[in-house]
Amino acid sequence: MEPGLSLIKQHMTALNIPAAAGILDELLIKAQDNDFTYQEFLYQLVTHEVTTREKRRLEKQLKWAAFPEYKTLETFDISEQKSLSQKQLNQLKELHWLEQAYNLVLLGPPGVGKSHLATGLGVEAVRRGYKVHFTGMDELVGLLKTQEITRSSRARLKRLTTSDLVIIDDLMFMAIDRHEANLFFQLINKFYGQTSLIITSNKGPEEWGEILGDTAITTAILDRILHKSEVLALDGDSYRLKHRQTIFNPGEKEPTKP
Ligand code: ADP
Ligand code: MG
Repeated sequence: MEPGLSLIKQHMTALNIPAAAGILDELLIKAQDNDFTYQEFLYQLVTHEVTTREKRRLEKQLKWAAFPEYKTLETFDISEQKSLSQKQLNQLKELHWLEQAYNLVLLGPPGVGKSHLATGLGVEAVRRGYKVHFTGMDELVGLLKTQEITRSSRARLKRLTTSDLVIIDDLMFMAIDRHEANLFFQLINKFYGQTSLIITSNKGPEEWGEILGDTAITTAILDRILHKSEVLALDGDSYRLKHRQTIFNPGEKEPTKP
């Protein structure tokens, strides 16, 4: 006697392949209709389990990464960014730098695509199975200051320190005091040598000291960040301004003045 389908599904669930169990009825009909070989049937069944798992993993890791906006390298138009070549972008996308715990520092004025590029590389890292976490500098300072008293801050910081790649967006955007700079240094020290950082900033490292107001700490922080790093200066007009929609011609670019 043929074993009942419900018993097969029960076993599949016990074996922890619920997605395959879920598609079994449908796939059996498809297999009969299309004269699948045993091998073809089995292939489709296990492939469904694998792709479903991968999709879930990706969703979970993207959520954990906390990107403020979903931006990918596929939507990053390299022709708009003259200071980066396609070859360099491909190299970055390979993520060897991440494997070797290098940091990336993306500099440039507002709107040139720093956050987009950082997020795109972060998404790429998630796709390849790395743990990534994104935070703004202001948010990070808030977390550091409240870690002693707030459990959720500690939880967020734990996410940061257990990630393979941490993106700190808009570094030194606002002035931070000595105590905060100290806490920031301790964190950077924890990352040093084991977690890669992508840091974006509209100010160059030479100006970070002024904002921090303490040369000793700034030097120590810079030392850790820049020791193994690639600094990319992005340039050009603000993408936002160039591609902005106007009230008079929605969706159209500004006409260029003669
Ligand atoms: P920044 O962080 O340097 O201020 P963003 O990364 O936030 O700039 O970019 C501003 C906007 O312009 C975003 O919506 C981003 O997706 C878009 N953008 C910037 N540069 C590019 C580019 N080269 N290709 C596609 N979109 C871009
Ligand atoms: Mg930005």
